[in-house]
Amino acid sequence: MSKRTESIDTKLIHAGEPNPRILGAVNVPIFQSAMFEYAGETNYHDLKYIRLNNTPNQLALGLKLAALENAEAAIVASSGMAAISTALLTMLSPGGHLLVQDCLYGGTHDFVTEDLPALGIAYDFIDAQRPDSWKEKLRPNTKAVYVETITNPLMQVADHEAVVSFAKTHSLICMIDNTFASPINFRPPEFGYDLSIHSGTKYLNGHSDIVAGAIIGRSKLVEEVKFRLDHLGGSLDPHACFLLHRGIKTLALRVRYQNESALKIARFLRNHPAVQKVNYPGLDDHPQHQRAADLFDGFGGMLSFELKGGQPAAERFIEKTELPIVAPSLGGVETLLTQPAKTSHAGMLRQDRERLGISDGLIRMSVGIEGTEDIIQDFQQALSLS
Ligand code: PLP
Repeated sequence: MSKRTESIDTKLIHAGEPNPRILGAVNVPIFQSAMFEYAGETNYHDLKYIRLNNTPNQLALGLKLAALENAEAAIVASSGMAAISTALLTMLSPGGHLLVQDCLYGGTHDFVTEDLPALGIAYDFIDAQRPDSWKEKLRPNTKAVYVETITNPLMQVADHEAVVSFAKTHSLICMIDNTFASPINFRPPEFGYDLSIHSGTKYLNGHSDIVAGAIIGRSKLVEEVKFRLDHLGGSLDPHACFLLHRGIKTLALRVRYQNESALKIARFLRNHPAVQKVNYPGLDDHPQHQRAADLFDGFGGMLSFELKGGQPAAERFIEKTELPIVAPSLGGVETLLTQPAKTSHAGMLRQDRERLGISDGLIRMSVGIEGTEDIIQDFQQALSLS
């Protein structure tokens, strides 16, 4: 069977595994060694040294992640933000200009708006639903376009086909944060994205016990990012590599369950009289439902909603729920609730949040792998008291 056509389930287990196995070990052992004996390397970046992203644990993960998204290459990084910042700083240099989606993960938003300008890199926001408005934002020095597969926290789905075609037409590097979808639901390199970036802290690892990142895509670009990562130093340590590697093996089982569970919970919420609005691309009244159905293999485990009664009702509801944990982050086995205005998007100006539709009462949910009916029952009791 060709490696490319193997199912993603098989690749999760077998792609990138050392062949032959190391001393027969079924799992890649943790290589807790900062350096390896000099073997005649002639290039600094090839020296087997832990920061240079080429030790056995890092390499095995890179091969597996590239296979999962049917991409040419991949590397891991010490966090999602290390992956995002290093990739952006590789594709852009002082004097350059970035087109970036207007609704972004808060950390990326802050990096783009605070750090890039300090380094002489300009940016303009684009509305990812309105391709006709992008051309007027182009500048002669525009180098890249950056979007997220599904936006946080409103779960909008960008016009990905238009993003890729616009980037190709104008010779821009096309970058996407694919954290929310995971390779199970969407594989951006198959659609023409040059670089797909992940916070491995979320679905890829899935157990909320490490911080990690990944950059997947065209080999020439991934190599350039590796050289920059070697210099900036955001390398993933062997123990975190081991945990990420272990977590990835169950990615399909977790994400498919989360897809199903999130859809049931979203439907329950939509039909509940105390709920004002539900944002989930799997609902047929979501504005980009058809696009999501065409592009994705699943609608994901993330949703957000507002209650009638706004922020006070949201606070009461969260307090009354018993199963979900109130914590930032997402993509783990446990169901989490957050209020983005207080956590992930607290760094944004209130007027920017309001313009984008992130109200103070918005609740974001990361659906875990608990029994769906248990979560629904818990929500039922919490809503009846709110
Ligand atoms: N991208 C998205 C969509 C995220 O939600 C996050 C973190 O919440 C990140 C990137 C940053 O990842 P990390 O916390 O691993 O640096």
